[in-house]
Amino acid sequence: MIKTWSTPVQDENRNEEPCALCGGRDFSAYLRCEGFQYVRCRQCSLVQMNPQPDAEAVKRRYSGDDYLEYELANEEAFLELGLLTLADAGFYQFEGGLDPAERRVLDAGCATGALLARLRARGWQAEGVELNERQADYARRVRGLRVYGQALEDIPLESCSYTLILASHLIEHLRRPRSFLAEARRLLAPGGRLFLTTPNIDGFQPRLFAGRWRSAIFDHLYLFSAKTLTRLLEQEGFHIEKTVTWGGLAAGIAPRPVKFMFDKLAKLFGFGDVMLISCSLPAGGRVCKPPLSDPTAEPELRFGDATA
Ligand SMILES: [Zn+2]
Repeated sequence: MIKTWSTPVQDENRNEEPCALCGGRDFSAYLRCEGFQYVRCRQCSLVQMNPQPDAEAVKRRYSGDDYLEYELANEEAFLELGLLTLADAGFYQFEGGLDPAERRVLDAGCATGALLARLRARGWQAEGVELNERQADYARRVRGLRVYGQALEDIPLESCSYTLILASHLIEHLRRPRSFLAEARRLLAPGGRLFLTTPNIDGFQPRLFAGRWRSAIFDHLYLFSAKTLTRLLEQEGFHIEKTVTWGGLAAGIAPRPVKFMFDKLAKLFGFGDVMLISCSLPAGGRVCKPPLSDPTAEPELRFGDATA
């Protein structure tokens, strides 16, 4: 089957990493791919690439032009998916309950900013984060958006700056998913929402295709299940509002009516290979901390950061 586009496998510095969910170091082999492998934590069942590329190597992966070309070639399809995601996540009801001044969104991994531009047109104050400089530059130049070019944890933003944070197909690329969620929590106002989309390792397709699954790619450092991601989110103070999965069968491996039925069933029963988790922060009882004066200071415990 055709895999999602990824940086080609290359030689780079790699290290054994502890489990990003429980800190354990007892793993069993899980998926073998060309040139890399995923392991499963025996304690909490999180699936992660191990060994993992170091921070410099990951940064280098997103420094080229390839991602801009891939994004522009698929921009319309990705925008459609982004809008469907919003609808499934309960965005419109959430938006309806906000005052206009409260409509402040941050799209982490905003690519060329197509979805942000749509949200801005609906009256949202729309900002993005994009590490790929070519895409960030495109979003600024062509769409006039404010786009930060650093990792979320490195941007000196004020606490409670946003009511909505989007992260579509982002968290599986990050070396420190917990740090990202902790920072997202800090940046969200009380009652704010976080919509996360990521591949689902418990779906039907990964069970069928194993290492040939479309999302078992070099750029994906973590392959979450609803269970492992829910646990990580809850540990970081989020409340799960809704979990939806999509994608029963890959295009081209079954006749269209079969695929159509299968996709419907996958969504109904939760075995799709992509999942959306919509989560929220409690509405009250939280004091917004002042912004970090030193953006390199670490406000939270971060697992295995000795090599970062
Ligand atoms: Zn674990």
